[in-house]
Amino acid sequence: MTVDYHLHTSRCGHATGTMAEYAAAAEKQGLAEIGFADHFPLELLGFTPQHRVNMQPEELDGYVAEVKTLQSRLSFPVRLGVEVDFLPGREKETAAALARHDFDFCIGSVHFLDGWDFTHPGEAKRYAELDPDELYDRYFALVRDLARSNLFDIVGHLDVIKKFACFPRRDWSSVVDASCREIKKADLCVEVNTAGWRAPVKEAYPGVMLLAKCRELGIPLTLGSDAHSPQEVGYGLQRAVQLLAGLGFREIATFCGRRRIMRPLLPL
Ligand SMILES: [Zn+2]
Ligand SMILES: [Zn+2]
Repeated sequence: MTVDYHLHTSRCGHATGTMAEYAAAAEKQGLAEIGFADHFPLELLGFTPQHRVNMQPEELDGYVAEVKTLQSRLSFPVRLGVEVDFLPGREKETAAALARHDFDFCIGSVHFLDGWDFTHPGEAKRYAELDPDELYDRYFALVRDLARSNLFDIVGHLDVIKKFACFPRRDWSSVVDASCREIKKADLCVEVNTAGWRAPVKEAYPGVMLLAKCRELGIPLTLGSDAHSPQEVGYGLQRAVQLLAGLGFREIATFCGRRRIMRPLLPL
């Protein structure tokens, strides 16, 4: 059972390809299920980013409608998701905005630290001025707040702060432990996001230490390529399945109507 629960579309302004092209790529690869998870309009949450990184508010209804049209045309399940930034202090606005659509799943992601878009290649030079240990503390404190917010179903690219190969200098196992415990308490799912293999860090998100902690605590996982073009659909998923099987995972989470359904990780 291989699913791809993290597909973007040209609506976010930094991806290419139509939704039908993403779906066709998934069908060709024999994926069992896909989920579109384009970037939710930040303006609806009261935040205007410096770079164009999300759908525009007026595009959201068309996005939802297009996924629903695809659902009726394809022979495999196509889920309606979104990738939503966790913006501290904007929890009420986020809850209200998400409640307006019948999403199958919502991925909660952290892409901003005090307004700094730290996953954006154009902003990466700022890492050189910052202390990695402090960065990890700040980033994972936000992840724990995200978990406590009760707004989402899936934690997106859990350790994306490493994207440009930034790693802590000290032992950070206590950060891993505290963050995973908060994720478990919130009954959240963690995605294994293969985009990290395409990024400078050349490691999937999250890394093995976090994955092993998820396994230890019984945190469910799902899979996503974070495709920003139809060619990236399904990227690295077989490698991810092998990695997870090696760590002892036997199931994968899928979602329908924001309800989690566990499926066997490997074909029987
Ligand atoms: Zn993201
Ligand atoms: Zn994404």
